[in-house]
Amino acid sequence: MKAAVFHGVRDVRFEEVDKPGLSEGEALLRVKACGICGSDLHTYREGLFLGLGLPTETGRILGHEFSGEIAEINGHIEGVNVGDRFTTAAMGANAEYLKITAETARFLVPIADGVSFVEAATTEPLATSLHATNLANVQDGETIVIMGAGIIGLGILQCIRAGSSAKTIVVDLSNKRLALALELGADKTINALECDVQETILGASDQRLALVEAPEGVANTVFDCVGATRNFTGVSVLEQALSIVKPDGKVVVVAVFEKPLEIDPNIIVRKGIRLFGSWAWTREEFVQALALISSGKIDRRPLISHEFPLEDASEAYETQANADTAIKVMLIP
Ligand SMILES: [Zn+2]
Repeated sequence: MKAAVFHGVRDVRFEEVDKPGLSEGEALLRVKACGICGSDLHTYREGLFLGLGLPTETGRILGHEFSGEIAEINGHIEGVNVGDRFTTAAMGANAEYLKITAETARFLVPIADGVSFVEAATTEPLATSLHATNLANVQDGETIVIMGAGIIGLGILQCIRAGSSAKTIVVDLSNKRLALALELGADKTINALECDVQETILGASDQRLALVEAPEGVANTVFDCVGATRNFTGVSVLEQALSIVKPDGKVVVVAVFEKPLEIDPNIIVRKGIRLFGSWAWTREEFVQALALISSGKIDRRPLISHEFPLEDASEAYETQANADTAIKVMLIP
């Protein structure tokens, strides 16, 4: 079968690999769409998180945000037939086929008729956004700041919009991403290249001068969907988040960090900040995420910025690595 194999940093090759063999109770999914995830990018650019790839003889097959249809079943799997459309959680979907193990087969989530494979392939990142949003327990009337308007930050915006009338401020470096945030219902956007984020947000509240050392903050919750890249310097987004959140407010960290940060934790103590790490999702949230898409409450189509055939996987990874223009790049095997 055809696959895009990760060989090393910035080296993804389109090659022929063995089609997975099936044991009794296993199935083969023909992958119809697979998104490139931020974590795949950490692997592609820095060689991190290798465990998220499926090992082959020559390298690893990345990709875990996918959808497809059942092509083959060995034996019988209750409720699963050849031709059925599913999404689920597994690794190695930058390929023509993916093995559905007996364990994965217990968590195949059916895709409703009106939902395309490409939309369904955004279920996993939406579930990640939903999990982070649920941690924040957003209420009507609150002010929420989302730092980072990639697929996770924009997904959080969509989850908030679908569930409350909270006011949302979205911060990013890309005007393209910020324009999309406005289109998706953000109340305000800030380009962090064009102004000082802390000053812009805190200044608007007239609280900036009063409490310079421990700024009072204006946000009930701040989401850090940025983290830090290996070559990052300056004031981290997490530090900014701690400064713009209200006393007793929440900071939810959904990003991953390519290196440790130096932060003065006193601000967390003095403001009584509730700091949450948000990793992945529960199965209920995964199912809910797809239901939000199928019910039309959340439209993922504007987030699909590019589609590439699997042959062009290398170009697809380079495109996703350009945060200025790409939101979600899809590989279509
Ligand atoms: Zn992902």
